[in-house]
Amino acid sequence: MPPRVARVALDLPLPGFFDYLPGPAQADDLGRRVRVMVGKRERVGLLLDWADSSEIDPSKLRPLLDVDRSLPPLPEEIRVLLQFCAAYYHAPIGPITLAALPTALRRWEFTRLRPDPLWQLTAAGAAALPQQLAPRAIAQRRLATQLHAGQARESALATQAPRARALLADWARRGWLEQPVPVPAPASLPPVLNTSQAQAIEAIVGALGTYTPFLLHGVTGSGKTEVYLGALDATLQRGLQTLVMVPEIGLSPQIAARISARFPGASLSLLHSGLAEGERLAHWQAALDGHADIVVGTRLAVFTPLPRLGLILVDEEHDAAYAQQEGLRYSARDVAVWRARTTGVPVVLGSATPSLESWANATTGRYRRLDLPQRARAVAPLDMQRIDLRQTPPIEGLAAPAWQALDDNLGRGGQSLIFLNRRGYAPVLLCHACGWGADCPRCASRLTLHLKAGRLRCHHCGLESRPPATCPDCGNPDLRPLGQGTQRLEAALAARFPGARLARADRDALSRKHSWETLATQIHDGAIDLIVGTQLIAKGHDFPRLDLVIVANADGALYSQDFRAEETLFAQLLQVSGRAGRADHPGRVLVQTHFPQHRLYAHLFDQDYPGLAATLLAERRALDLPPISRQARLSAEAPEADAALAWLHAARQLAPATPEVRIFDPVPALMPRRAGRWRAQLVVQSFSRPRLHAFLDEWDARLRTEQRRTVRWVLEVDPPFM
Ligand SMILES: [Zn+2]
Ligand SMILES: [Zn+2]
Repeated sequence: MPPRVARVALDLPLPGFFDYLPGPAQADDLGRRVRVMVGKRERVGLLLDWADSSEIDPSKLRPLLDVDRSLPPLPEEIRVLLQFCAAYYHAPIGPITLAALPTALRRWEFTRLRPDPLWQLTAAGAAALPQQLAPRAIAQRRLATQLHAGQARESALATQAPRARALLADWARRGWLEQPVPVPAPASLPPVLNTSQAQAIEAIVGALGTYTPFLLHGVTGSGKTEVYLGALDATLQRGLQTLVMVPEIGLSPQIAARISARFPGASLSLLHSGLAEGERLAHWQAALDGHADIVVGTRLAVFTPLPRLGLILVDEEHDAAYAQQEGLRYSARDVAVWRARTTGVPVVLGSATPSLESWANATTGRYRRLDLPQRARAVAPLDMQRIDLRQTPPIEGLAAPAWQALDDNLGRGGQSLIFLNRRGYAPVLLCHACGWGADCPRCASRLTLHLKAGRLRCHHCGLESRPPATCPDCGNPDLRPLGQGTQRLEAALAARFPGARLARADRDALSRKHSWETLATQIHDGAIDLIVGTQLIAKGHDFPRLDLVIVANADGALYSQDFRAEETLFAQLLQVSGRAGRADHPGRVLVQTHFPQHRLYAHLFDQDYPGLAATLLAERRALDLPPISRQARLSAEAPEADAALAWLHAARQLAPATPEVRIFDPVPALMPRRAGRWRAQLVVQSFSRPRLHAFLDEWDARLRTEQRRTVRWVLEVDPPFM
């Protein structure tokens, strides 16, 4: 009997499917794009399920208008995964499904896949490149270098430079490039592996074909990437696809370059939000068609259809960037693990500082732990010291021993990094006569002074204004910036060391696409002496010339109300301090702090993540906090001061009585006001995941009947921070 009701996912904020008559659709059209009418508008949806009947009167159902059979259908594996996510995160299925497709496919008409040629240099090209390129054309030079190393796919080259495809077409027109008969070029040879790397690869390869979750715990510089490459090699040889997840767009070109250098014959696809729409579609289609052997991508890539999927790698698995904070609030890392389980493939979560969730799973044996205890290259041990800011107060942000260390290192021709996780010039503009401070009128927050731009900016809502010439309260003209931001530190360093080559690495300085890559190359090549950077600099990049790291001020996170703040800070500091040092002489790390006795610094100086993790887990156990328990959070915001809290109190009254589910009192959010809206939250907690979800199912349905016009609310499962 032919199916009677087509269930379609549409990008509309309503729970559940939309029912239609099959129209032109056949039984095997599940997972295909369909064109439908919603009211008087045409929309693009995805056919996700068939049903025998509908809750809607059959005479009122409309038929599907059209089915797109030009693309393979979305595989069942992905359809199941999307429905699982909708249920687990209590989110409507339609927007999730449509968000998992490349944006180009949300319109009915779209441009087709372009070919992915293999390129190699001709003799003329080998002579012309890179000599005929401008010295500063770093991205173009990188393309040339990669082509000199051997044949490469256009898709892989396109990950290495902006406008790479146009450039390659131009070089081909000049006779510098040709498309060879595809013969794999000699790959970069794998290095000699140390024992723990070899054992880790063996364990992963041995698990191919079965769901096995691994936690790969490797100290900074221990060669995790070599383990990924070793596992990738075995996966490729079996004709299987690998999904490689990275937390940030900025980290994808490097890992893509390492992969394509090792496996030049493999077809690599890159998927992240920074790609042009057509490019993203081309990569996605290559994955769906099974042409792509390897997909490297950020969060949303976890939903990429991969019909031959054999392995999932999640690099820097602790990174908060895996948690999506808008729309569907999900953890791409957790979805990757579920996907591995439903598909029956191994998943490797890699980190020097794993999330406590993953660490706890490894201690209970749910995950298999693989340790890389030593650095892959011989590096002298770090020389780490605290600077007690109570004894030596900072001058322009740095204490005397820190200034001295910078001076000495510059004198030796060394490279130094000052880590300060606060952008702008100064976080506070203050009147010393009456105590007035420049607050954001829309947020419970100070405005940050950006001196160069001559603006006060709110880092929470984006509000900008001109700094007042005099105090608005008392008229005092002597308004003073208080505290240190990266811009102020940069200015102080420039004044103190006028000859030094200085760079700032924060979101303001590196807002343009590829500017971070350019700077990273300069730092790597030793063209920079002093770097002031925020956490941007802590991630993933290898700076072989860096020998001094100064942590200017990290104390703020030590006594935060967010119980995850210490874990996050430790990860950042371990990463940033791990950047220091090279083979021939030890790296030096100086940490400025008002709390030199804090346990976090003791564990940091011992490079002892397991020790800190054990302490933090014991605390979480004592307080019943995650990962010992499971949490969900109901957040509300409203323009009136008490409306959000009042709504949460009403929501609490609607909570079903479920045993083993604890409901806390509504409280103001950590940032109680943002962008003109008052914010509050209510946490629900349980040791039993099934009970928590049974509770949430019922509560969520009741809450939907309790809508208030001015109150916006969202239910988050496993909220990543407070
Ligand atoms: Zn004043
Ligand atoms: Zn604001």
